[in-house]
Amino acid sequence: MDKQKSSKITRRKFIKTSVLGVTAISLGCNQSNKIKFLIRFDTESRQKNEMEGFFKKIISVQREYNIPVSFFCLGTAIEIRETEFKSFYQEVKDDPLFDIQDHSYSHVGLGYQDGKSVEVLRADYEKSFAVHERVFGKRPVGVSLCGTGGRDGRLVCGFDATQKSRAELDMMANLGIKMINTNLCDSDSTTEFVNYSKIGHPEIMGFPNGLSDSGWLRRKKYGDPIEFIKSQIDEKAKQNSHMAIMFHDSTQWIDVDDKELNYLRTIAEYTRKQGYELLTHVECYDRKGLWQS
Ligand SMILES: [Zn+2]
Repeated sequence: MDKQKSSKITRRKFIKTSVLGVTAISLGCNQSNKIKFLIRFDTESRQKNEMEGFFKKIISVQREYNIPVSFFCLGTAIEIRETEFKSFYQEVKDDPLFDIQDHSYSHVGLGYQDGKSVEVLRADYEKSFAVHERVFGKRPVGVSLCGTGGRDGRLVCGFDATQKSRAELDMMANLGIKMINTNLCDSDSTTEFVNYSKIGHPEIMGFPNGLSDSGWLRRKKYGDPIEFIKSQIDEKAKQNSHMAIMFHDSTQWIDVDDKELNYLRTIAEYTRKQGYELLTHVECYDRKGLWQS
């Protein structure tokens, strides 16, 4: 408990000081050179009653075990579960363990070969950001890309692949987005932080993503879920690579009925043991050295 408390204090001290432009190293904190592990929750369930209790539980688990998580919230889900989202936001808005971002209004796809027009995509994101503003009083600066289940054809290899995919990134930049999945043809989207300077957006950070719980947990594609994730963490730690994991609120709470959020806790604890530093996406954004060099 004391250990957790002290690491929380160190963390908060760092965040507060980082705003002043003081580096972690000068504070005597050795966290900055560690490999990073990003935990993301795509928060998109539209099942209001079935999701009851989720936010309360995740707040208590994150605080008890000091687990930073970024929540990429779908506009329609925020509308349907508005009361719950609103009180969640009020409770966590000043706590650096929580980072609230966007996941489009209706789960539209960016970066697909036969995707919707840029105008339709823009309207969808604008609608979602307006919901954020109304319910939270704040616009998001990050989005996580949505899967569209084959409806829009294949993904192109990156935002630099086609004229349309470049226009999609330009459009997101115009909406004020500063963080989005790493999505460049010559980058490893599962381990690399990038910036988009090569296609005109040095201000946008690309973050690593992967290991969706739809595959390893809901569909049990790789056998025992925890053994599989541990083997992935071991492998990446050995390569000294950053990594990320993607949970869904509905997968954890409804599909696999993990009402104690044991998967989240177990994985967070294991990554720390393997040498990872856990942090939110917005904290990564603040560490300019991670993605601007
Ligand atoms: Zn999604």
